[in-house]
Amino acid sequence: MPLLDVRDLSVSFDTDEGKVDVVDQVNLQLDRGETLGVVGESGCGKSVTALAIMGLLPKPSGQITNGQIIFDNQDLLATELDERRNVRGRKISMIFQEPMTALNPVQRIGKQLIESLRLHRPELGKDEGHRECVRLLSQVGISEPERRLQDYPHQLSGGMRQRVMIAMALIHVPDVLIADEPTTALDVTIQAQILELISDLQEQNGMAVIFITHDLAVIAELADRVNVMYAGRVVERASVAELFSSPLHPYTQGLLNSIPKLEGIHKTQLDTIPGLVPSYDEMPSGCRFRNRCTYAKALCGNKVPILEARDGAHPVACHYWQSLLEQRA
Ligand code: SF4
Repeated sequence: MPLLDVRDLSVSFDTDEGKVDVVDQVNLQLDRGETLGVVGESGCGKSVTALAIMGLLPKPSGQITNGQIIFDNQDLLATELDERRNVRGRKISMIFQEPMTALNPVQRIGKQLIESLRLHRPELGKDEGHRECVRLLSQVGISEPERRLQDYPHQLSGGMRQRVMIAMALIHVPDVLIADEPTTALDVTIQAQILELISDLQEQNGMAVIFITHDLAVIAELADRVNVMYAGRVVERASVAELFSSPLHPYTQGLLNSIPKLEGIHKTQLDTIPGLVPSYDEMPSGCRFRNRCTYAKALCGNKVPILEARDGAHPVACHYWQSLLEQRA
């Protein structure tokens, strides 16, 4: 039984053009201690899926229209509000791409940390709370933590702000940490440090991690298994090794061809996937990738390809994956 089991999750948003389905029948399973990658371009529904799991969809425009979110045998969508709050925040925590939007710019770091701490651990006295804040900042590698507690967010670098967010997420060591593009806004060396920090904390605490990113290199580094999302649907699911050695969906192949390789013939120009992700109010019928797919045929517009594993291969949502595989062999 997975620790977190997202079943047939659909999310829609009210827009000026009417209701749009942003996440369509998504299934994700996460086991204890594992790292699950969710990869796809901006706007593919990966962050919305995470917000739905956390109960943080913007209200009233965002609504879960279908599905179940089962955490530790408990359907979070069917439980009482208090119990849901207890799980989200204590047992499932999330860190975001831009910590500046999650931190209060006019409050010192110490005050923000202590408020989160009081919310989750009201039994701690003033001195104990202060000591715990210092410990949390040290744990995430912030030097001179006593002094940093007096700083405002703008006085910290982007990497340090992200470390503060990670410290907040660890107030209660969660069973699941959802990391939504936590390194995108950082420069490369700081990115590597933050990824290493998440990995070390995961090892120390035995957390499971859902890592959401557009960056396949990050997935290769961190994840055990990957879900590739496109336009609100999961189109391929595999172990990292399988996905990189044998991608089955044309979209995944396009993503992999668009990253530089060290071995083999060096290209002067990287491949790109033609066209753009369709907007949600103009979603093509059938396969949502068909307007960008060089292999599309009539069936692709008439029938939604189902994500399923066939003939010993890993799950993929493409009508023609087998013939494409044969062509490539
Ligand atoms: Fe391309 Fe058709 Fe497969 Fe979609 S179902 S990825 S359009 S071949």
